[in-house]
Amino acid sequence: MKTYELFINGEFIPNGSREMIDVINPATEEVISRVPKATEADVAAAVDAAYEAQKSWGKLPAMTRANYLMELAGLVRENRELFARTNTEEMGKPLAQSMDEAGWLGDYIQYFAAMARHIKGEIIPSDRPNENILLYKMPIGVVAGIMPWNFPLFLIGRKVAPALIAGDTVVLKPSSDSPNGCYEFAKLVEKSSLPKGVINVVTGSGAVVGDALSKNPKVQLVSMTGSTEAGKKIMKTAADNVTKVSLELGGKAPVIVMNDCKLDETIEHVYNSRIINTGQACNCAERIYVQEGIYDEFVKKIVARFAKCTYGPGLGGTFDMGPMVNKAQQEHVDELVKSAVAEGAKIEIGGHKATVDGKGFYYEPTVITGCTHDMRIMREEIFGPVLPITTFKTLDEAIEKANDCIYGLTSSIYTTDYDTVMRALNEIHFGETYVNREHFEAFQGFHQGVRQSGLGGDDGEHGLDEFIETHICYIDYDLNAQGK
Ligand code: NAD
Repeated sequence: MKTYELFINGEFIPNGSREMIDVINPATEEVISRVPKATEADVAAAVDAAYEAQKSWGKLPAMTRANYLMELAGLVRENRELFARTNTEEMGKPLAQSMDEAGWLGDYIQYFAAMARHIKGEIIPSDRPNENILLYKMPIGVVAGIMPWNFPLFLIGRKVAPALIAGDTVVLKPSSDSPNGCYEFAKLVEKSSLPKGVINVVTGSGAVVGDALSKNPKVQLVSMTGSTEAGKKIMKTAADNVTKVSLELGGKAPVIVMNDCKLDETIEHVYNSRIINTGQACNCAERIYVQEGIYDEFVKKIVARFAKCTYGPGLGGTFDMGPMVNKAQQEHVDELVKSAVAEGAKIEIGGHKATVDGKGFYYEPTVITGCTHDMRIMREEIFGPVLPITTFKTLDEAIEKANDCIYGLTSSIYTTDYDTVMRALNEIHFGETYVNREHFEAFQGFHQGVRQSGLGGDDGEHGLDEFIETHICYIDYDLNAQGK
């Protein structure tokens, strides 16, 4: 069993008598590692290290920083299999999906390294004679990167890569459910030539460690990905110092399936949008609105597709799904399914907790019909392999129901009609809409939610902006100067 140590100012800090957290493999229910519970003093030390390191890191030419990022991307790629196995072991996803995710981490760091020469200010014409207005793009300072458990590797990239290229330094706080990948990353940072203190890693609960980061006055940006509930707490805490927050929160993605869609392709995309990561993705298809003309056929085909879904331990074979991340998540999904049945919905397939060889926090791939828009299962985030379906008559009705939700992250529509697409894009009020394809974003896009799904966003040039601050300067000069 592995034991990890806090990574502060380029060094692993011996655990001594520190309290430890057990990390559990959700497929075997065994303890696989122990990580330290950082104290408030540890968090302060990590932030101080990042703060001191930023003074010189922020002054380096962006291309020099890019070279460090490329070194990190190379190290991540050399260790792709180690990262993938660590990921599957700690949070359960199938190894092939973990290999993809480990690949994204290296690619994402490389993507932002290439932004080095694109961070540029502006020269703005003044209303006054003999004046230039210069707008600088500056590093924001110290970033607290608070992460969820569902994409623990990819999220390291999302927090670290834009911050470092912008000239910021980082304190990472992974989730206690899946911290191992982040500590394996810290080992590479220690090995690399990156200056000390530029990346630090602390672990512990959100209430103590996450809170200490959010209220530390030396932190200039709290970039958090996680639940809406925790995001609200962070916003309140950060408000005391008017610290900027960038929040990527929960979702309840509607999928609108029109009569004129390409049905077989739609089935495949909806399946993939629900099953990836065992349904534990913020952008997953969470509620399905099928137009009444194809409702029966859609249900028949999607149930048949779910019937073929395989699940098992991610390191023990090739499966579509692994277990849920932990028992609490399995219980949460089960409770929501039971609530749907109690409210009158019908389980077409699945609907139970499961084990494989008597172990693991699995949930059966589940399709539920007869749902109505006001049921809890249509309004609360499920975050599991459960697909609730309802029907509608007109596009107006579907759009209204899609928008009637506290969340506003991703959404999708399946149709072959151009006018329907254009109307939907204009009227669906979500941060992201996918047309005729599965829910999954690209590095160069902009991943963001409206309503209670978040504030700010990630990826691409707009995502990079979150990690940058502007400094505007007014310069008076003498055009007739003759020199001295
Ligand atoms: P969570 O909110 O429980 O935890 C996320 C992180 O926040 C953890 O590191 C946790 O320790 C920390 N945290 C919790 N309370 C805190 C507090 N009071 N102060 C500071 N930090 C605190 O979320 P989770 O269960 O790890 O992840 C699942 C959730 O994340 C889902 O709701 C999912 O939709 C969301 N998510 C969103 C995105 C996105 O890009 N929008 C991506 C992935 C996951």
